[in-house]
Amino acid sequence: MQQWSNWSGSVVATPAREVTVAGEDQLSDLIRSSEAPLRPVGAGHSFTPVAAVEGGTLLRLAGFDEVVVLPDDAAGQKRVRIGAGQTLGHLTSELHPLGQALKNMGDIDDQTVAGALGTATHGTGLQFGCYPSMLQALTLIDGTGRKQVLSRERDVDLFRAMAVGIGTGGVLTEAVINTVAPYRLDRMRYTMPIHDLLAEFDSRMSAARNVEFYYITGSGLALITESRETNADLIARPADKDQEGLAQLRLTSRLTQFSPALRRMALGMAIKSHAKEHFIEDWHLAFPTDREGIRFNEAEYHLPIEVGPEAIRRVIDVVERDFRNVYFPLEVRTVKADDLMLSPFQGRDSVSIAVHHEAGKPFKALLAAVERIFAEYDGRPHWGKMHSLKAADLRRLYPDFDLAVEARRHLDPKGLFLTPYMQALLAQ
Ligand SMILES: Cc1cc2nc3c(=O)[nH]c(=O)nc-3n(C[C@H](O)[C@H](O)[C@H](O)COP(=O)(O)OP(=O)(O)OC[C@H]3O[C@@H](n4cnc5c(N)ncnc54)[C@H](O)[C@@H]3O)c2cc1C
Repeated sequence: MQQWSNWSGSVVATPAREVTVAGEDQLSDLIRSSEAPLRPVGAGHSFTPVAAVEGGTLLRLAGFDEVVVLPDDAAGQKRVRIGAGQTLGHLTSELHPLGQALKNMGDIDDQTVAGALGTATHGTGLQFGCYPSMLQALTLIDGTGRKQVLSRERDVDLFRAMAVGIGTGGVLTEAVINTVAPYRLDRMRYTMPIHDLLAEFDSRMSAARNVEFYYITGSGLALITESRETNADLIARPADKDQEGLAQLRLTSRLTQFSPALRRMALGMAIKSHAKEHFIEDWHLAFPTDREGIRFNEAEYHLPIEVGPEAIRRVIDVVERDFRNVYFPLEVRTVKADDLMLSPFQGRDSVSIAVHHEAGKPFKALLAAVERIFAEYDGRPHWGKMHSLKAADLRRLYPDFDLAVEARRHLDPKGLFLTPYMQALLAQ
């Protein structure tokens, strides 16, 4: 059979078969007639084996790309019903002309709706939760082939258990999400010494609608991006130079590996020539960036916001001292708390700290070093990014972990969606 691999190449698996379904009835029939394990896959952009299946059925959705505007809800909020198989890029290009927008987005729009919801994918901004926090209802075909429509209002516990689904419990076919009116973003990027930024962390991270920063290891400099809503005229987005910048970082890091002082100077010069950027674009064109050059692996943990500056300082110290070949920047974002059982943001406003390393390079030692720090702050890992936690660790971090596992067992009593990886994660 054909080998399957994720985006970065860090996960490979050989399913016994790949099946594509184009409608809910076909999906129910497939589920009823399949042996375990069966895994739904989106765009394969997760760095962990959450979508992988060895020897079983790899399931893809074809179609499932409807976008239907619904009447406003009781609170006067906009709502749309969306198919779960489409990419975020397809969704946003459909929403915009309909007078609808997502409140927030992450770095790219290549993921599928189901994939982005399934791992609690997020952007940045303390007023904004992860994608599943936009959910009002979700429709899935459960492990027995039955259609389940779970509403936030009516099915409180099952909904809270399945809103961050990690591809277990059922296959998501559509969702109802809250939307807002389209908006325009004024986006600017500039550099600042990391020590100054961390000293003013709270005010810097709330200085605009969306704030995030990259720390270029070895440079002492952070690259901050701020976005503000505006009614001003468009200013064309300059050609994306991030990939060019990365190639330059790689070269500079290699050439100056043995001299931190030389590295700091060379990086300072390289960054200043790439740093400044300013444009005004409509929301769906402003958020996504280009990540298609040098591929990478990534680990990202979500920590209580209060510990942000201290934890970030410690991660920087370890990476700069022990991992000098890591030239990909660290990425720092903030995310609003929610009430979803398996959301890493459940019950706490969070700071997200991510380390990246070139795809194909050993990641294990780097991961172990940063995980030691994250563990001290009760960090919760992104479900789709590298981590080493198993059910026993996760149970300590998620107050409703057992309730979520129970809900999954109820929806998938035979364990159709469980691979050994998912079993170890969810202790089923
Ligand atoms: C370049 C890059 C940039 C990224 N940027 C961000 C970012 O800005 N913010 C962030 O938080 N994350 C980011 N990620 C991580 C990414 O958003 C998540 O890993 C996301 O889950 C990937 O979506 P996907 O469609 O590729 O799903 P996959 O990786 O294919 O699957 C993810 C999970 O969803 C499940 N799933 C897929 N389809 C269904 C379905 N129909 N029903 C039920 N379950 C399903 C799978 O079984 C799996 O458990 C990035 C990843 C990459 C590679």
